[in-house]
Amino acid sequence: MATTLDELRTVALGCTRCPLAAGRTQVVFGSGDPGADLMFVGEGPGAEEDRQGLPFVGRSGQLLDRLMLEEMGWTRDRCYIANVVKCRPPGNRDPEANEIAACRPYLEEQIRLIAPKVIVTLGNFSTKLLLDTTEGITRLRGRTYGYGNAKLVPTLHPAAVLRGGGEKLAQMRADLVRAKLEVEGSPT
Ligand code: URA
Repeated sequence: MATTLDELRTVALGCTRCPLAAGRTQVVFGSGDPGADLMFVGEGPGAEEDRQGLPFVGRSGQLLDRLMLEEMGWTRDRCYIANVVKCRPPGNRDPEANEIAACRPYLEEQIRLIAPKVIVTLGNFSTKLLLDTTEGITRLRGRTYGYGNAKLVPTLHPAAVLRGGGEKLAQMRADLVRAKLEVEGSPT
């Protein structure tokens, strides 16, 4: 499809493969280090992401940044962040199956080109898509899976942690520690 991430971005910025194209302010392709060892995959852009053209820059992103720093000692420029769908679903509704299917090749190409050691899926949509399962995140998290040559560590979506508090926060912290250990090649 594309030979570089920039080439893929250029294609994605003009995408009209699904109805989300009509309502977007801009395509939120993804951001970070194209050679990153670790890639986060969220669900889809919210209002702030749609405005800025960058993933996870709203409240969920602030929590992600904070937990990444506290549990891994990392800032976001060290990893790559993308979403299952690159355009904002209206009113922040869930992305629909046809939208996810239309956008899937972009995510798969991003993963192929970045070739991260570890993928951290944030929430149900990215986890179910990449693990090809209908099982929910609550049951899937807490373990490491394989995705091609990469390790996949599923965790909760930060929006769910913001809503759910204490226990969910502790779970997401533990998953980020797991992800870091997987990057270092010393999993628990
Ligand atoms: N939620 C997501 O899943 N992705 C974003 O980029 C922002 C919020």
